[in-house]
Amino acid sequence: MRVIQDGSEMTEISDFYKEHGLILGFVPTMGCLHQGHISLFKCIEEKCDAIAASIYVNPMQFRPGEDFEKYPRDRIGDLEKLQNVCDYVFLPDDKQIYPSGFSTFVEVESLSKKLCGVSRPGHFRGVTTVVARLFGIVRPKLAAFGQKDYQQFVIIRRMTEDLALGVQLFMCPIVRDKDGLAMSSRNRYLSKKERIMSLAIRKSILYAREEIMEKGILDLSEIKKKMIDIMSENGVKVDYAEIVDPATLESVENIQKRAVIAVAGMVGSTRLIDNEIIDLEEK
Ligand code: AMP
Repeated sequence: MRVIQDGSEMTEISDFYKEHGLILGFVPTMGCLHQGHISLFKCIEEKCDAIAASIYVNPMQFRPGEDFEKYPRDRIGDLEKLQNVCDYVFLPDDKQIYPSGFSTFVEVESLSKKLCGVSRPGHFRGVTTVVARLFGIVRPKLAAFGQKDYQQFVIIRRMTEDLALGVQLFMCPIVRDKDGLAMSSRNRYLSKKERIMSLAIRKSILYAREEIMEKGILDLSEIKKKMIDIMSENGVKVDYAEIVDPATLESVENIQKRAVIAVAGMVGSTRLIDNEIIDLEEK
């Protein structure tokens, strides 16, 4: 595994793969890696001749007062974990990503304002800007993202299509801890008590899934109310509990075929998200 700090070196490597008709895959991350991240490499390894990871905690996607400064960083641990799953690790500093004079921003309208975009305005603009820049440097043939950040995936897919970036995207399943909590770098902020509280997030999603898939209940507003109750009773400060169209992220009243149950909430000072895709035809 080769560690690369210089953007032009990363681009040269990518060009080499292209010239030889080989496929370079890409997994962008903010580091502090866990099994959820590692699963992304496994998800695309058979489709790639080589995989590059990036680790960059992107200041642009954090709002003032969010956890940019305290976001967990573990460079040594990350490099160890990546050793057997990728060929290149791109570790840019701020100047590589936002060189002096940088003044282009990418914003996917509408989708970025839904769900997490309501309480985190500007967040997805930061995400799409950094991913566009990383795609420009790494120039991968394909890239893997986690379903854990479902909205992020839908937004990046829109951007990639709209700007004809030529990167094939893969959405990989959510990896959970044994207790059901979706793995997240932020889980390490949770105290023991908060960790137990946070299980209500998954519980609320499973409740909704069962009502819809097993009991065939279609009154989604009642289900969403109950989801909020399940989380609130356990001390989660609910940001949203939604059932949305998988492509538009609009709240749905009737599920035609597929929908996404999506939840976000604060457990203490930690913001957690989770989701589940449901398909009525799989009943
Ligand atoms: P992050 O480091 O949080 O920016 O995440 C980097 C990538 O890992 C994103 O595509 C995430 O969706 C994905 N990811 C994070 N947690 C998980 C998880 N528990 N399961 C699957 N993918 C994940």
